Amino acid sequence: MIGPGEVWLVGAGPGDPDLLTRKAEKLIRAASVVFYDALVGPGVLALVPPGARMVSVGKRSGRHSKDQRTIDALLVEAALAGERVVRLKGGDPSIFGRSMEELVACRSAGIAVHICPGITAASAAAASLGTSLTLRGLARRVTFVTAHTRSGQALDLDWQALADPQASLAIYMGKQAAGDIAGGLLAAGLAGSTPVAMVEDASLPTERLFRTRLDLLAIAARTALGDGPALLLVGEVAGSGHPQGRSPGSAVVRHRTAA
Ligand code: SAH
Repeated sequence: MIGPGEVWLVGAGPGDPDLLTRKAEKLIRAASVVFYDALVGPGVLALVPPGARMVSVGKRSGRHSKDQRTIDALLVEAALAGERVVRLKGGDPSIFGRSMEELVACRSAGIAVHICPGITAASAAAASLGTSLTLRGLARRVTFVTAHTRSGQALDLDWQALADPQASLAIYMGKQAAGDIAGGLLAAGLAGSTPVAMVEDASLPTERLFRTRLDLLAIAARTALGDGPALLLVGEVAGSGHPQGRSPGSAVVRHRTAA
């Protein structure tokens, strides 16, 4: 399924290896070299066959171990050397994954490159919260947005467009900017009582869920979240239990105990 000199961009899902697609697992097992990000779970990496080379190109915000061009060049070099290349990316490769740069680099070098989709953090977070990202009549739209900016640049989002009470907002890389996000949405007219859920390490044994409200988000994100990646979900679907229910304030919903 993966020939010599081919590259596959493979979605590793949110962390739990059971949330890999069967195809992703087959590709990982067939690879001769695996380039992986910092957010790829240890349980997924354990599937890499013993003979395959593993290369960490780990990117966590602010701590880039290899820049994008270097990663592009490494993929091309490995493919041209006849390796069966798997590029493992957290979640789905097509969502905030810098996939296009890698696709273009491979195609420009005449390398066959393919994509295997994965479960994105927003889907995993919604599942952990026991909610739905859409809700008939109440949440007709889901927006995936990143709060990551190039270092030093201010967050520049279209708050007016995002502050829609009939939409769900899934915010990636939003932990550091939680205060700015809340400020922007409130200033654009979204109610302070709008439910917000935060899911850290979704699908992993260390998973933690929190619920709060938009006007308390800045404090909640600062005090509640740890070092893991976190997805922020804003909108009615983030409310506790009843879709129209409002959270009374910040609350730890559940700390996952080891399965
Ligand atoms: N391609 C990935 C997103 C990469 S951006 C995907 O589709 O999920 C990295 C951001 O994704 C993190 O900062 C965090 O906001 C989110 N994320 C990734 N894995 C996560 C997890 N297990 N739990 C919560 N958020 C996660």
